[in-house]
Amino acid sequence: MRASIGIIGGSGFYDPALLTDSQEINKHTPYGETSDSIYIGKLGGKQVAFLPRHGRGHTIPPHKINSRANLWALKELGVERIFAPSAVGSLREDLPPGTVVFPDQFIDMTKNRCYTYYDGPKVAHFSAADPFCPELLIQLGRAAEEVGINYRVGGTYLCIEGPRFSTRAESELWRQFRAHVVGMTLVPEIVLARELSLCYCTLALVTDFDVWASSPVSAKEVVETQRKNVESAREILYKAVAASVEPRKCNCSRAGENAFVN
Ligand SMILES: [Zn+2]
Repeated sequence: MRASIGIIGGSGFYDPALLTDSQEINKHTPYGETSDSIYIGKLGGKQVAFLPRHGRGHTIPPHKINSRANLWALKELGVERIFAPSAVGSLREDLPPGTVVFPDQFIDMTKNRCYTYYDGPKVAHFSAADPFCPELLIQLGRAAEEVGINYRVGGTYLCIEGPRFSTRAESELWRQFRAHVVGMTLVPEIVLARELSLCYCTLALVTDFDVWASSPVSAKEVVETQRKNVESAREILYKAVAASVEPRKCNCSRAGENAFVN
């Protein structure tokens, strides 16, 4: 079973029924176990591998996700492009709940994760100047336009450690950083995808205004908006995946060319 497109489903996105004719497989990796089984099936006429990031029962918190195993397993299955929906809080008035943002930058405020496949003796410094695949950003923008939902192409995703939400002071700080959305799962997933020369993009699904707005975030409120967002994201994914053509024309496959120092 092979697939050139991978979907790493975030909060609310656990259901392999996203795919038709899917088969469940388990991959063991040198980095340990993946978040769950991987499902390979059809979406938008393409062969797609689906992996629920937090496990099917949402049993793995953001800081415990084994991203190294997840990405490694997908790469081994032939995946070249990753679509990664995730739930986020909005840091701007013009990005209300229900909006989907396709970020083109990130700020990493995580603290204690496994960020690299290169812990020595092989040493690598990959460029993260433009961390998201430009080709996939275009595809997502077109797909969202067709679906007719509120969206934004470009913007900065600020990744916090979690699992708690931000304090008011932190949230104000993220706004001063001119970030657009805040979430807990982008890093190190995107960094590891780059080290494997994969194309990576995020569908950042806004569930709430982060705590800078008047009322604090409640997990219940987040879950309700999430349910609606998942439906929009499924439609966007279907169209964006269907529009993926091979071979890749971006430079993501050459990410490692100037990264190694030894
Ligand atoms: Zn790419």
